Amino acid sequence: MSDVEIPEDHPRYASLLTRHRIEAGVDKGITSRQGLIAQGRGEAFDYLLGERTIDSADAAERAAAAQLLLADHPVLSVNGNVAALVPGEIVALAEAVDADLEVNLFNRTEERMRAIVDHLEAHGAENVKGLTGDGEIPGLDHARGTVDADGIGAADVVLVPLEDGDRAEALAEMGKTEIVIDLNPGSRSPQTAAIPIIDNIIRAVPNVTEHAQDLADATDEELRAVVDAFDADEALADAERVMREGEFGGAAPENAEAPSPDAPLADE
Ligand code: ATP
Ligand code: MG
Repeated sequence: MSDVEIPEDHPRYASLLTRHRIEAGVDKGITSRQGLIAQGRGEAFDYLLGERTIDSADAAERAAAAQLLLADHPVLSVNGNVAALVPGEIVALAEAVDADLEVNLFNRTEERMRAIVDHLEAHGAENVKGLTGDGEIPGLDHARGTVDADGIGAADVVLVPLEDGDRAEALAEMGKTEIVIDLNPGSRSPQTAAIPIIDNIIRAVPNVTEHAQDLADATDEELRAVVDAFDADEALADAERVMREGEFGGAAPENAEAPSPDAPLADE
């Protein structure tokens, strides 16, 4: 994707680049207009995080890498926002953990499915799934529940970034081990995930890939230990704490202690 000229020393370079990619995604027929609104919701939470990967998110990203490496049939689900924001990075992750890529849209249209498959292929993807649509997620209506039987339908571990809450729940009910990337720790999708990653997808996907490369020679036992050491509820609570305690104008201190009961409130 050709990125517009945004000076790299602009203080909000990453954010401006992200917005441009989403806009370009809409222009190319990859991203839906709803996707623009979802991006805005995500950005609001990213401000509160200090636009960085907090330690608990990094731990989630490492656990996600281990879980994907342990999987028999991992699938990375790609929607219009994922394709616009991290096309090359999601292809690199699929390679690093030997996963399938499957295009899966909340508002499924053949045109948009095709455009996203083409876009991923232009970034080096092969055998992208999703167009067959011969499988079903039980509990959802047909339009929203359609998947490939030999893709998400047969997966044991699925990565669903920026996923709608209903679909995340239905996938978890199918018994899939679910990894969700979502900046809103209060959204239902990360709350139903085995591994919720509260981070911007722009930072999260490359970091999961880095962890996977780092863990490439680990034994199953070692990978299992990484997964078992991760606590989903703690990670959600930590992200919420950072957002509530952060201060505008200065990043929240990493791993700050919770204030003691008699500490003055920030606005006093
Ligand atoms: P619920 O899951 O409770 O129904 P919702 O309706 O707000 O919540 P969706 O529209 O289903 O959520 O999904 C979009 C989600 O993706 C939002 O929670 C938003 O914060 C998140 N999001 C948007 N852009 C990004 C991004 N770049 N990185 C990570 N998360 C993002
Ligand atoms: Mg959601």
